[in-house]
Amino acid sequence: MSANYKRFSKFLLGGLSVGCVGGYFAYKNQNKPIGLNPEVYSPFTVSKITKITPDASIFTLTPQGSTENMKNWDPITKVTIRNPDMQVQRPYTPLYINEDNLKFYIRNYEDGPVSSHIHSKKEGDTIELRGPFKTTKLDFTKFSRIVGIVAGTGFAPIYQLAQNSKVPVDIVYCERPGQEPALKEQLEKECPNVRVRTIQDRLIDVDDIMKWDNVNVPLSETLCIICGNPKFVATVAGPKAEYGAKQGPVKGLLENSSFGKVWKL
Ligand SMILES: Cc1cc2nc3c(=O)[nH]c(=O)nc-3n(C[C@H](O)[C@H](O)[C@H](O)COP(=O)(O)OP(=O)(O)OC[C@H]3O[C@@H](n4cnc5c(N)ncnc54)[C@H](O)[C@@H]3O)c2cc1C
Repeated sequence: MSANYKRFSKFLLGGLSVGCVGGYFAYKNQNKPIGLNPEVYSPFTVSKITKITPDASIFTLTPQGSTENMKNWDPITKVTIRNPDMQVQRPYTPLYINEDNLKFYIRNYEDGPVSSHIHSKKEGDTIELRGPFKTTKLDFTKFSRIVGIVAGTGFAPIYQLAQNSKVPVDIVYCERPGQEPALKEQLEKECPNVRVRTIQDRLIDVDDIMKWDNVNVPLSETLCIICGNPKFVATVAGPKAEYGAKQGPVKGLLENSSFGKVWKL
């Protein structure tokens, strides 16, 4: 056998091995479901369900496909979850965004097509997600303090923001009578810059929002965010404009406040 022939055989074998390995990985990836992306729904496994209140749980969802899109999300980021049987989708805000899972706090509405679909799932089942999407274009880094006025699961967006914020965050957390203001202690424990004031069994008033001890930041440098159902948002800051998801004028309890910015999520 000539030296040239031996060299050629080695080259051929090497080439074939590289080709086989490449082919194997291409085949493997071809069969892997698509990871989280804004265009199409991708499957996530319900890896853990933690009951927090009788009708709300934390769902830990793990992508079955690539984890490429699971990092560097700016707060406040949301995804949409769909009920594929009814072709209905709703937005949800992860409390925690990890490289290999997302954790959501989700309340069950028995007559709600998407929340009841999520709550019908068991650990090991699949849920479909699309995203990530920015909830707002607002630049949070421009403010030296944040006041959040939230109701029910409206706590989720401010929870995500507070975790990613270095400035003081004061939250007024309203819950319906009989509903526990869940996750308050957890957030305060994890974030020393966060204070949560809870309100139950009565209506929120202006003092709940404005009166906090040890505030060193002027109101002109403070951002006030409101998040809850439309009735709650309207009571606190006036209704959002009907079309184009515009903010509408600031009315309600905050009509005469001097916050640097009032933002209805
Ligand atoms: C940006 C954004 C982020 C969100 N993030 C979360 C989240 O992290 N966790 C979460 O649980 N929800 C969140 N929601 C609410 C969620 O998108 C759905 O609206 C909710 O799960 C109900 O959907 P559904 O299809 O089951 O019921 P729907 O068909 O929307 O409603 C069914 C019934 O429930 C009532 N209902 C629905 N929502 C509320 C509410 N908030 N308060 C009182 N009654 C209500 C309706 O009036 C109706 O009677 C978010 C909403 C937005 C806009």
